[in-house]
Amino acid sequence: MTEPNAFTGAELDRAGDGRRTDPAWVEARRSDPRARVLIGGDAGLRGGAVSLLRVPLADLGDEPEAVLLGDDDEGPLWVIDADPPPRAKRPRLVGAAGPRDISPGDGPEGWLGIREAAAALPAAESGLAAYAVALLNWHRAHRYCANCGAATELAEGGMVRACPRCRTQHHPRTDPVVIMLVVGPEGALLGRRGNWPELRYSALAGFVSPGESLEEAVAREVLEEAGVEIEPPAYVSSQPWPFPASLMLGFIAPWRAGEIGGSDPELEDVRWFSREEVAEAARHEDDWTSDAPSDGLQLPPRTAIARRLVEEWLERAADPA
Ligand SMILES: [Zn+2]
Repeated sequence: MTEPNAFTGAELDRAGDGRRTDPAWVEARRSDPRARVLIGGDAGLRGGAVSLLRVPLADLGDEPEAVLLGDDDEGPLWVIDADPPPRAKRPRLVGAAGPRDISPGDGPEGWLGIREAAAALPAAESGLAAYAVALLNWHRAHRYCANCGAATELAEGGMVRACPRCRTQHHPRTDPVVIMLVVGPEGALLGRRGNWPELRYSALAGFVSPGESLEEAVAREVLEEAGVEIEPPAYVSSQPWPFPASLMLGFIAPWRAGEIGGSDPELEDVRWFSREEVAEAARHEDDWTSDAPSDGLQLPPRTAIARRLVEEWLERAADPA
């Protein structure tokens, strides 16, 4: 089996077992001299090395909106939003918008969005970054109570936002997205969005609808985007995608019937690529941050689960046992 997906592998105790409901326990994590805090979700770039920036929590003074991620081997670990938007302003995403024109190793110092940094961060760090960014994005988008409109307050070390007026407790949420590689006698079915450079293709994907199973979502999205029917899909693996709050659920789905002809306006093209074309494209890592034209099929980078689905399919075909 291939290595774990990017944005997984955070190694810490999230204290999701009820300890957070004790304010004294949370306060002890804040006053612990070992407490450190991540500054935002972006990764720092220093001398070509990429890492998440940690500073002692005590250095920051009073930070009522600091969020407790949990305890790791070195003690309590918190995160703060480095640049929280004012309450009246629509929040921007955290972590998605690093400079697109630098890559690890390019410059002596700088900041990367974690999407760009994922390939350079060790697995545990990329998992931690995804966790931190997903939480910060959720806090940004839940500053007001969805029930009554009052300003909410952070509780349980940041795992809850509580409404002081109607007493509703709001919990961080994750939005399920199915992503599937449809495979058949003609190869693999890949699609491209209208704003992508020519020859850049990826697996089909879409949000799970309310009242829908994952299997139903896969079949519906494939029919909408490609116009073909599938056999029951097989689950492969999942990947947090905290831009702002998705969980990508990866499947391989055998084609059953139908000619290509979807109706999704976001997709400019859907087509079959032969195993040979896909295998050739999988031999190199494409730079999706560059808009330079390519002379062949461009697959997503290895930090994306879409690429892992393609590689899984190629491996299975090479070794059908
Ligand atoms: Zn309320």
